[in-house]
Amino acid sequence: MEITQDDVQVASHVELIEQAQPIAAQDLKSDITLKPIVIIGSGHSGYQVAAALRKQSSTVPITVITADNGALYSKPALSNSFALGKSCDDLQNESALEWEQRLNIRVYPHTRVEKIDRNKQTLNTNIGSYEYSKLVLATGASAIKIPIAGDCSNVLSINDLTDYRCFKNELTGKKRIAILGDGLIGCEFANDLSASGYDVSVIGLGKWPIERLIPQILGERLKKSLTDIGVSWFLEDSISHIDAEPDGSSQLHLQSGKVIEADLVISAVGLKANTALAEQAGLEVGRGIKVNDYGQTSDETIFSLGDCAETSQGWQPFIAPINQLVPSLVSCLLGDLTKAIFTCSPVIVKTPIMPLSIYPAAVGALGEWQIEQIEDGLTARFYSVDGLLLGFALLGKQAQINRSHLLEQLNTKQLTVAE
Ligand SMILES: Cc1cc2nc3c(=O)[nH]c(=O)nc-3n(C[C@H](O)[C@H](O)[C@H](O)COP(=O)(O)OP(=O)(O)OC[C@H]3O[C@@H](n4cnc5c(N)ncnc54)[C@H](O)[C@@H]3O)c2cc1C
Repeated sequence: MEITQDDVQVASHVELIEQAQPIAAQDLKSDITLKPIVIIGSGHSGYQVAAALRKQSSTVPITVITADNGALYSKPALSNSFALGKSCDDLQNESALEWEQRLNIRVYPHTRVEKIDRNKQTLNTNIGSYEYSKLVLATGASAIKIPIAGDCSNVLSINDLTDYRCFKNELTGKKRIAILGDGLIGCEFANDLSASGYDVSVIGLGKWPIERLIPQILGERLKKSLTDIGVSWFLEDSISHIDAEPDGSSQLHLQSGKVIEADLVISAVGLKANTALAEQAGLEVGRGIKVNDYGQTSDETIFSLGDCAETSQGWQPFIAPINQLVPSLVSCLLGDLTKAIFTCSPVIVKTPIMPLSIYPAAVGALGEWQIEQIEDGLTARFYSVDGLLLGFALLGKQAQINRSHLLEQLNTKQLTVAE
């Protein structure tokens, strides 16, 4: 299922999904010594699992198979590193070889898993087949590509370090950037590139930026701050087609009839969980690969986490939910059953010109916003019809001071509901 970047539920207390029963500890302990625990994916999820596993056990064989080059980097930094003056090399923390040696594991870069055989507990990859004792799917999410008529040679998505390197290379000598998408990532790139001297135009379907997650008054305030640093807005609009110009640039024709000239176009319209391997293997899949509170999928030997997975809290393509699931997933891999404790964690939007943090209410939750003006910004609380706090959005530097108090309220309420 495709959903947009903004269409997220963040750590609210929702019904538990139908869960696979956790396997008994002794069953796990008996076979992990024979074949390796295999992790597919070397993003934050794959790496965190490998590191935590090695910390818990110095002997368990661990293999990471990854389609990319296996280098470690911080993905969130991709949308705010221009203004910080960081090069692509600055963003890379370690090569595949370096962390392979440091953790004493095997990392197979540039290796794509094509099929999982659950009966034989093997994986088919582009370089051959591979056995596993337990499997962790950490395959992430891919950028949604909307079909656009015309010449799309200047359109790119930035979802990993390779994309970003390509974007930076393409940008040399260019000035005008169009961003498709007015959500979190679109706004972050708009702030970063505009603050770095580029002419930025944002095209989006919303009436205001990040419309699905914040109320209008906050969206308008954020829009104004970004406008003040040079961002142009084409809202309640979308792309119709793109014409190539003789000088290599693009002419973007919008549904409204407006035309934008751009040297490069960043598509930031949303992400889609990478669930194909799980679906092919017959695992239960919703918005992501469904897992219980131990990180187990509907096959008790296969685990999943991160942007490809859907926990009892929903599909949450963010760092904090990964960190919250890792300890119990790793314990379960090693035979010790400890349920994950999910706490509310906000989405910090990287728009330094106007700081914003959001804890969205669950999709479809009924209620209304209450908005308070404070010094340089706004505090918006989303209450249910019964007066329960369900979410918030904090705009401006001062408003961020309220964050921990509001999170505490939300977390306390969660515990009360769970009791
Ligand atoms: C620009 C941007 C900014 C962001 N900013 C923030 C932020 O400020 N805060 C926040 O909390 N989150 C942010 N996020 C989201 C956050 O970065 C992700 O939630 C997190 O990095 C996901 O990690 P992952 O390991 O689950 O997936 P990924 O990092 O996508 O890793 C997936 C891995 O799986 C591998 N793979 C996929 N399919 C296969 C296959 N078939 N065979 C082998 N390997 C395969 C890939 O090669 C890759 O190594 C941002 C995301 C983006 C794109």
